[in-house]
Amino acid sequence: MRRRAALAATVLSTLGWAAAARTAQAAAPYAGPLFDAHLHYNEEAFAPYPIADAFARMQRSGVQAIVANSRPNDGTKQLADAAAKAAAAGITVVPFVRLYRNRDDYTGWFKDESIHTMVLNELERGTAAGPYRGLGEFHLYDSANANAPIARKLMQLARQRDLVVLAHVDDAAIDLLMAHAPETRLIWAHTGIGGASVARVKELLQRYPSLYGELSYRPGLTGADGLLSPEWAALFAEYPLRFMIGSDTWINARWSDYEALMAQYRHWLGALPAAGAQRIAWANAAGLFGVAMPR
Ligand SMILES: [Zn+2]
Repeated sequence: MRRRAALAATVLSTLGWAAAARTAQAAAPYAGPLFDAHLHYNEEAFAPYPIADAFARMQRSGVQAIVANSRPNDGTKQLADAAAKAAAAGITVVPFVRLYRNRDDYTGWFKDESIHTMVLNELERGTAAGPYRGLGEFHLYDSANANAPIARKLMQLARQRDLVVLAHVDDAAIDLLMAHAPETRLIWAHTGIGGASVARVKELLQRYPSLYGELSYRPGLTGADGLLSPEWAALFAEYPLRFMIGSDTWINARWSDYEALMAQYRHWLGALPAAGAQRIAWANAAGLFGVAMPR
């Protein structure tokens, strides 16, 4: 932890992120590897975006690792199979167990014991790409449900088995979830899609050293020029090890836009100091899952 803090301070003082975000308009896009830390391959994507096409989109985008999850979990298994057969050349698949068998589960999973059982069975089974590494993405549309029995149990399960959690929740739910199992590694999907203030995001990062922010759909992240807003650039400067990017292919339109989405990330990453851009693009997620740097 001390080394991390020292590293953060070094980055802040020597690289001047905030300035870089606004002044390097002519900067070339970030050209290094991307780790897509929020990818779904849901069943409605299977026909229009067959597995080879899905991987081809990632390959053309320079995505070299993904957190894969899907409704139902079959999509994740297909991605894992492809990775095991090298059909996904150059892409590491990090599988997560999703809590949803169907759309109804989005709003009832947290009080449904059969979801807990399904998760345990999936963990037992694993995938062709190896054991599951996390749970989620799950949603809590009302933060109070973070205290429902299955939400509590799954947070504790994640802590016991060293699984990473991917949660689409508001800032109040982050506090509630972390109280069930302190120190669980939790990726906050969208870092607050409802637009929790940057001050509030910072407060949570400070309080929970194992909290990470994924940046898809984050309101206020970039300006009309597609570059980082100054307050987000300042937050990244202060917490350079805690953010990662994701596609969130929750609907098929996100698959058709996949390369454009990744190009948008490359645009604002390109205006950051190189070492910092590489952390957000790749190294923070790769470090979380122990994925080696691509050659
Ligand atoms: Zn999602």
